[in-house]
Amino acid sequence: MNLAERVGLDRFTTIGTGGPARWFAQPGSLDELAELLAWAAREGTSVEAIGLGSNVLVHDDGVEALVLRLGGALAEAHVEGEQLVAGGGATNAVCLHRARGAGLGGFEFASAIPGTVGGGVRMNAGAYGRDFRAVLVEAVVVSAAGVRTVDADGLALAYRSSNLAAGEVVGQVRLQLEPRHPVAIRAEVAELLAQRKRTQPTNKRTFGSVFKNPRPDLGAGWAIEQCGLKGFRRGGAVISERHANFIENAGGATSADALALMAEARASVSERFDIVLEHEVRFLGPLELPPL
Ligand SMILES: Cc1cc2nc3c(=O)[nH]c(=O)nc-3n(C[C@H](O)[C@H](O)[C@H](O)COP(=O)(O)OP(=O)(O)OC[C@H]3O[C@@H](n4cnc5c(N)ncnc54)[C@H](O)[C@@H]3O)c2cc1C
Repeated sequence: MNLAERVGLDRFTTIGTGGPARWFAQPGSLDELAELLAWAAREGTSVEAIGLGSNVLVHDDGVEALVLRLGGALAEAHVEGEQLVAGGGATNAVCLHRARGAGLGGFEFASAIPGTVGGGVRMNAGAYGRDFRAVLVEAVVVSAAGVRTVDADGLALAYRSSNLAAGEVVGQVRLQLEPRHPVAIRAEVAELLAQRKRTQPTNKRTFGSVFKNPRPDLGAGWAIEQCGLKGFRRGGAVISERHANFIENAGGATSADALALMAEARASVSERFDIVLEHEVRFLGPLELPPL
C-alpha cells in the first residue's frame, strides 16, 4: 500500500489552489482501492476521491483525509462490443479516443469536459444536452463497506448530482455507445471544442462552472454578469470576462480568494434577483460560503 503524507493538492486541481492532503495514494487496481478504503476505515480517516480536480476547490490549509487519485489500470479504458469499459480514473479524453478508434459515438458531449469518468459520474457531468446519465450502463462503486454495481437510477443521477456518499469511490464504469463513423465523431468534437473556445475561458486556470444554473432557462453566468461582476477581483482570483460563471486564477490566487468571489456573486444575485445560487464546484476541506 503506497501511502504518502501531506501531498500538496494545488498541482492536482485545474485552478491550481489548495493545501495538502493529510494522506494521499494512487491505487492502480480495484483490490488496491479496497485495501486503502479498509485502512482508512480502520484509522477512522475520511476519504475523498479526486479525478483531474476540474470541479473542486480545496481549502488552503488542506484536507484532513485520505485523498485518492485513481491510476494504473483504473485509469485505462477498452471497448467491449458497443460498450466502453473504463476505470474511474480514466480521462474523458482517453475514453473518447478509444470509442472513436472503435467507431463508437455517443460520448462526444464529454469532449470539452476536462475530467475523469469517475468524477463525471459523481457530478453527472454534461454538456450540449447530454450527460453521463444518458450513457451509463453501470458503475462499480467501492467503499469500506464493500463493492457494489449500480446503474444510473441506482445512483440517482440528476442535474450535476448523484447520491454517491463521502467515501464511495467509482472504480469502474460501463458506458453504452452506438456505431458511428470516426470522421463524423471527429467533426462533431471539433465543432464542440470551437464552440467552447468562443464562449468560455478555456485557456485559463479555472474549475469550470462555479454555480449550477438556477433554472434551465436562467444561467448563473447571466445573473452574475447582470450584477456587473465580470472582471471583479479578489487577490489573485477574478470573475472571468469571457463567462461570469467562471473564476480564473490570474496568478497567485488562493482558494480563499475564489471563495470570497463566490460569496460576493451569490450575495449580489440574491439581492438583485432573489435567487439563491447553489455551488456546482465541490469543496474539499472545511470550506463554507457565508449565509445570505
Ligand atoms: C474548462 C472547464 C470546463 C468544464 N466544462 C464542464 C461542462 O461542460 N459540463 C460539466 O458537467 N462540467 C464541466 N466542468 C467541470 C468538471 O470538468 C466536471 O465536473 C468533471 O466531470 C469533473 O471530473 P474530475 O475527474 O475532474 O473530478 P474532480 O473535479 O476531481 O471531482 C469532482 C467531484 O467528483 C468526485 N470524484 C472524483 N473522482 C471520483 C471517483 N472516482 N469516485 C467518486 N467520486 C469522485 C470528487 O470527490 C468531487 O466531489 C468543466 C471544468 C473546466 C475546468
